Amino acid sequence: MCGIFGYSGPKNAPEIILEGLKRLEYRGYDSWGIAVVADQIKLEKKTGAIGDLNSLNSELITLDSRTGIGHTRWATHGGISETNAHPHFSTDKSFALAQNGIVENYQELKASLMKKGYKFESETDTEVIVRLIEDKMKSSVVSRQLSDKIKEAVREAFLELEGRNTIIILTKDGHIFAARNGSPLVIGLNDKEIFLSSDTLSFAPHVKKVIILNNGQMVSYNGRLEITDIKSGKILPVRPEKIDFKSSKVDKEGYDHFMLKEIHESPYVINQVISQDFSLYEDFVSQLKKAKDVYTIGSGTAGIAASQIAFYLRVFGKIKAESVIGADIYEYYDLLGKGDLMIVPSQSGETADVLEVLEVAKKKGLKIASYVNMPGSTMSRLSDYPFASHAGPEICVMSTKVFTSQIAWGYLLSKIVQGKAPEGQQNLKVLSEEMDKYLNTGTNLEAIKSLAKMLAKSKDIFLLGKYQNFNIVKEGMVKIIEGSYIHAHGIPAGDLKHYAITLMEKGVPVIVVISKDIAKDDVLNAVNQVKARGATVIGISPTPSAGFDYHIPVPDTGETSAIMNIIPLQLFAYYLAVELGHNVDKPRNIAKSVTVK
Ligand code: GLU
Repeated sequence: MCGIFGYSGPKNAPEIILEGLKRLEYRGYDSWGIAVVADQIKLEKKTGAIGDLNSLNSELITLDSRTGIGHTRWATHGGISETNAHPHFSTDKSFALAQNGIVENYQELKASLMKKGYKFESETDTEVIVRLIEDKMKSSVVSRQLSDKIKEAVREAFLELEGRNTIIILTKDGHIFAARNGSPLVIGLNDKEIFLSSDTLSFAPHVKKVIILNNGQMVSYNGRLEITDIKSGKILPVRPEKIDFKSSKVDKEGYDHFMLKEIHESPYVINQVISQDFSLYEDFVSQLKKAKDVYTIGSGTAGIAASQIAFYLRVFGKIKAESVIGADIYEYYDLLGKGDLMIVPSQSGETADVLEVLEVAKKKGLKIASYVNMPGSTMSRLSDYPFASHAGPEICVMSTKVFTSQIAWGYLLSKIVQGKAPEGQQNLKVLSEEMDKYLNTGTNLEAIKSLAKMLAKSKDIFLLGKYQNFNIVKEGMVKIIEGSYIHAHGIPAGDLKHYAITLMEKGVPVIVVISKDIAKDDVLNAVNQVKARGATVIGISPTPSAGFDYHIPVPDTGETSAIMNIIPLQLFAYYLAVELGHNVDKPRNIAKSVTVK
């Protein structure tokens, strides 16, 4: 899932690369490294996150260099160490390479390279690519300039790699190469400078135009940009496009963490949903209405959003939509066919599990609609209907505002299908205003903060919800697990009595989310059942109830109330993580954009 970055131009390369890597850290942050060209290639690698750029202990930052590459790692092969961090040097130090992905056939390749006498320093699959390139260069019969020789070697080596991989290479004479197959790679262009990166937002402030590389394409830059089709070796036309970077600021703006800042941006992202260009929906909605089967697909938090989108489509759109998580769709493969439609919400638009599903869906002739936050993503480009959330960069690894945007979009989409678009827009407008008031009322935040203090030592936290709030408690569960590492369990309120009731005993915390809807009385029954076993009940609802030990009031926003209810749960997870002293924006072991399987 790592982040890859490359720069060549008039500015100080180490500085630009580190700044870019900082913006890519959401993709991986167990170690980082940069390689820049001075009189030779200088390499610096460190474990841990980059940290504050102003106090960064980097030897290379002051070095006068105009060209280089960098990487933030999310280890898949080999532990977290400076040796395993990227970039990796070639044996003679004539080039350095960084990789995003997994070389699935690395063991075979490594064995055959070792037989040929190649030595390996790290435990990574990455180094296999380096040695393979060296081997190809050695066996190159034509005597060429280093850069031509290496280009051909990179191309040949890349063709032998299995799996989703993207690589970037820096040669000692300042030539950058990159090749893409699966993991993303985008190019940003400005006057006389070039940026290469895993996403567009990492270089957004610097560039005027972008080129989004397709799978099977390779870049070469040495003052002149060349794009090659890897398989055929044919040079392709270079076609930069303008890109719309709405709200690309990356700054905590006074908040202690990106997570808190991003939760506070929720009213704004809902307004972004309302202010879309609705002419884009006409054809999509008519396809949706006549589709045979409708699937909503996502992974992690986006998987929960996909489930809520399906809920709204069923309830308001009267469309029988089914949601499946990206990793679990195998059993549907034989059922997919022409006339079906797939809807995929995603923050990054690069999630490997989901991309794989989309590739199958595409082959089977399904129509695909995506709702993605990252401009120029692979998912958007695979889609017949690419919708953008324009929620701005989400830096905290735990998704908050983008989840809110995804479910608000699902609600509005279902209202469009229902033929009540203006009502849907109006309801979201009210929601956005109420949410804004809620977030800017100190007593609301204080109540949640003290609840987090009270529950910080809990072994388990249970959550109960039903109907529109079931996915909301599931997402609350995900946020608690991600941020606090406390075991949380989201239970469908109606199913409680069938199994989870055995876990209820004195003092067990149970958070219950209730709206004024058809499920309210059923959920209150569940509250009584847990209460009778001594649980401590925390109710998130517009009105208090006798069964609550603690009440977190939320405004009643009618049809959109589930979207409102996620906010106190996100805030609760935030304060819990802060209370426990965890790295809120970068929880352990996870990364934001999971581009490996
Ligand atoms: N497989 C490489 C490593 O473990 C890159 C990992 C990735 O892209 O997530 O270092």
